[in-house]
Amino acid sequence: MFIPEGIARILQKLEDNGYEAYVVGGAVRDDIMGRKVNDYDITTSAPADETERIFKDETVATLGKKFGTVTVIFDGNMSAEVTTFRSETGYADGRHPDDVAYAETIEEDLSRRDFTMNAIAYSEKTGYIDPFGGIGDINAKTIKCVGTPERRFNEDRLRVLRAVRFSSQLDFELEEETEKAVHAFSDKLDGLSYERVFSEICRLLCGDGVKRVLMQYRDVMTSAVPCLQRIDGYDQNNYNHCFELYEHTANCVSYVAPELHLRLAALLHDTGKPLKRTTDNDGVSHYKGHPDASEAIAFATLKALKAPNKLCDSVCKLVKYHDERLKPERIRIKKFLSKHGDEFFFDLLKLQKADILSQNPKFYYRLENQNRVYELACSIVKEGTALAVKDLMINGDDVVSLGVKPGKTVGEILSGVLDAVVSEKIRNDREMLIEYAQALIYKKGE
Ligand code: ATP
Ligand code: MG
Repeated sequence: MFIPEGIARILQKLEDNGYEAYVVGGAVRDDIMGRKVNDYDITTSAPADETERIFKDETVATLGKKFGTVTVIFDGNMSAEVTTFRSETGYADGRHPDDVAYAETIEEDLSRRDFTMNAIAYSEKTGYIDPFGGIGDINAKTIKCVGTPERRFNEDRLRVLRAVRFSSQLDFELEEETEKAVHAFSDKLDGLSYERVFSEICRLLCGDGVKRVLMQYRDVMTSAVPCLQRIDGYDQNNYNHCFELYEHTANCVSYVAPELHLRLAALLHDTGKPLKRTTDNDGVSHYKGHPDASEAIAFATLKALKAPNKLCDSVCKLVKYHDERLKPERIRIKKFLSKHGDEFFFDLLKLQKADILSQNPKFYYRLENQNRVYELACSIVKEGTALAVKDLMINGDDVVSLGVKPGKTVGEILSGVLDAVVSEKIRNDREMLIEYAQALIYKKGE
């Protein structure tokens, strides 16, 4: 296994002081898989006080000390969590160990870990320590609980979500008994912290195996994100669609790039549909106004899961506009770009493309329109044409020098001028803009 120098030094120091020390968990797993290792966890026979003492000349964080964890900072900005061998027992609340119990041996520490692929330790001295066959399971792309799945999920329900999250992230299947237990526990996820649930859902959504996992574990998904219950198995009764609403949604998620805001928007974009159903005389159902309904549901869902505000806003906006019919007309596109910015515009196009791809293939020709809109928007952005007030050849001071009192009106005049430029009624030419601003001021009676 490749061990970075800083980590090797930490292991060595612990060993020099007479303790055992191993890299463990995700780092070992990811290294075996040839994936990029994000962070290194170290497990050691040294008690936390001892770890703190051994690294007294380095920067350490001791926030996790009561759980046996000391974080050692090295090379300026790298860190490793060094945790004393633990054996967890007794989870009264199905989540937090009642108290931390320490273990004598590395094997005992590994036995409290969730999955065999995460229960492998490594040190230069010992090589791999793999008492549960984790390496074999990694090679077989299998997620398997350490011990009896029901018991392990009963101890900590978050493991149910971790199992499906890893399944998507690594594109591994669950071993049969583990899978059965996941289904058995799918409706027992209440009581988990919203932040933890949200973090698992986000990582699941951005995984390569997301389509398969959303389909295979819809019981888990609808339990963790209850607003999905509405769309689960929902027959859309409309020629645009050949999938029930949940499958359409799962397709849409998988067709959009693995960026969190896009995947969340895809997941939630149609959740309001069932609330907006009307059926015409031909017996075909329609869902007018569903984007707004979905936006409200997305907002409530993301707030409940304690999603960061900025993420919540960008997801909700995409959901709100997901059904906006964009036409490949220069001025319209310029106006949209001016109002919403190019980042949002191109994100929206990505979502809309995924949405079309997840509908009835009979309507794939709509992608042509999408492409034309995309090409046109790219050329507009490339031109560098004025789309925001800051791009105008006049600014607020100019408006003030035309006799407008500093304040709200200045902004209104500038945005009126921008409208005229964006609509190509006038050119972004200083003299023309001043003339136009004067006319606006006159009209406003300022
Ligand atoms: P990643 O960091 O990519 O999410 P990871 O496996 O490192 O993957 P962490 O949450 O960092 O996951 O946890 C580190 C290790 O701690 C895991 O590999 C596993 O051995 C153990 N672990 C984490 N959470 C649990 C849990 N809920 N139950 C049992 N063991 C766990
Ligand atoms: Mg980790």
